[in-house]
Amino acid sequence: MSTALIVGAGISGLAAGIALRQSGIQAEIYESHSIPGGASTGWRRGEYFFEGGMHWLTGSSPKSPLNALWRELGALGEDVAVENRDPFLTIEHGGGEARLFRDPKRLRNELCSHFPEDEREIARLCRDILVFSRVQMPVTDLKGLKLRRKSPSPLPALLRLLPALPKMTAYSKMSTAEYAGRFQNPALRALLLGVVGGENAATALLFTLGTLAAGDGGCPEGGSVAMAARMARKFEGLGGRIHYGRQVRRVLTRDGRASGLLLADGDLIESETVLVTQDLLSAIDALFDPPLSAPWAEEQRRKAAPVLCSFVSLGVRADLGGRSKAAVFALPRPFICAGERYESVLPYLYAGPPHAPQGQAAITLAFMGDHYAFWQAARQRGEYETEKARLGEGCIRLLEELLPETRSRFELYDVATPLSYERYLHSFKGSWMSLQRKGEFPRTLPSGLSGISGLYFAGQRLMPPGGLPVALLTGRAAAQAVCRDHGLIFQGAI
Ligand SMILES: Cc1cc2nc3c(=O)[nH]c(=O)nc-3n(C[C@H](O)[C@H](O)[C@H](O)COP(=O)(O)OP(=O)(O)OC[C@H]3O[C@@H](n4cnc5c(N)ncnc54)[C@H](O)[C@@H]3O)c2cc1C
Repeated sequence: MSTALIVGAGISGLAAGIALRQSGIQAEIYESHSIPGGASTGWRRGEYFFEGGMHWLTGSSPKSPLNALWRELGALGEDVAVENRDPFLTIEHGGGEARLFRDPKRLRNELCSHFPEDEREIARLCRDILVFSRVQMPVTDLKGLKLRRKSPSPLPALLRLLPALPKMTAYSKMSTAEYAGRFQNPALRALLLGVVGGENAATALLFTLGTLAAGDGGCPEGGSVAMAARMARKFEGLGGRIHYGRQVRRVLTRDGRASGLLLADGDLIESETVLVTQDLLSAIDALFDPPLSAPWAEEQRRKAAPVLCSFVSLGVRADLGGRSKAAVFALPRPFICAGERYESVLPYLYAGPPHAPQGQAAITLAFMGDHYAFWQAARQRGEYETEKARLGEGCIRLLEELLPETRSRFELYDVATPLSYERYLHSFKGSWMSLQRKGEFPRTLPSGLSGISGLYFAGQRLMPPGGLPVALLTGRAAAQAVCRDHGLIFQGAI
């Protein structure tokens, strides 16, 4: 078969590329950026290094079925330390700190001591966290696929899911904001909303707290950039090639088959096997001429619920080592970002090396919301930079109030808007995940959904809410589909 061409060196493109190479298939990745990782990224400004992606990784625990996959891809390994932040979040309350611990028992004691008025709901929450902590993301293989060795049965993971099904159904019917409304204390509500926001179904909150309770959801050493670099090294070590700085303009098809890629610089690369990991929602319009119009594509356009943000990173000459790394602050008055009101904020504090020199700290603040139209309008008015400065300086004033030791000590800020993400990722409105809305049971779209033979899709958009595990599993599934369609034995991670 011809060399498989992969669009994008994000986590899904790298996962697909590694599995293809392991299965003996030539694979080359075309990546528009100069580094691998896509949305799983970070950047340096002056003396500071800002983590711009991963806050937790599902599958970081050796007990998770995903762990073997991450290890096989080089994302995790014996020599890669994993930090399991505990408490995961905190909030100032009653002159002290209420801490969101991982262990449900400890969490119950902590929350009940701070918020006795919510004792009953807290007890129920902690019982349900325990139920969700037993659920694992199953790893399945495509039907009809030849495997080098028998893969572990997904049955245990599926069986563990059964007792949680009634709870999953109940929590999926309400949003996290509606669920948090059951708790009387506003600080407790803000703490819970800090985990996955208010718009996702409450199942997303319970799954996350369950993941943490199971000892999963840690952060590998070096964060997003180091993890993507390890995966890129693994792919290249297996003989794969990544062409950086080469944007794909079109996926070419002929007679219902993939036939290659047209690059933005005009080069044409022929192949009958193409894997697209650019955001599905943007790819169906941007990469095809005419845009794809099958019913599944129309459904994507109608129903997808992209998650996006304005992201502010700041460098400060203050020692924040004694503070919680992730603390929710309920604000005395709303903070305005991109025309939206925020009643609370969650700054991540990275004190000292490797993110900042000793005694200094890198801080990141993500304001979640669909701010795309706001920033686009600012750009059209010629006020894009002014608005960015307004936001950056507003964040400095806010943080000086919340963290008094930072007063007059900020050295720099950097603002990434949805337009920045769009420019780097070519994703729909610069989004990088999807909402898992109430009333919807997430299903994974198959990689061969277009019906065009030799064309495969992978990436976060194929299953809400997306994120790193979905990028991994859909990349692997696309590689499996290539193997199956060519009668080859899949030799990637199982
Ligand atoms: C602030 C933030 C926090 C996050 N926190 C977490 C977290 O804690 N846990 C978690 O699981 N997930 C988290 N995520 C989400 C996660 O990072 C993404 O969902 C995941 O990385 C998506 O991977 P992907 O490969 O599907 O897509 P992408 O990362 O978008 O990769 C696509 C790649 O393709 C390239 N590309 C696109 N179009 C073209 C083209 N036409 N030609 C050439 N190259 C192209 C892009 O440059 C990119 O490198 C976070 C994301 C952000 C931004």
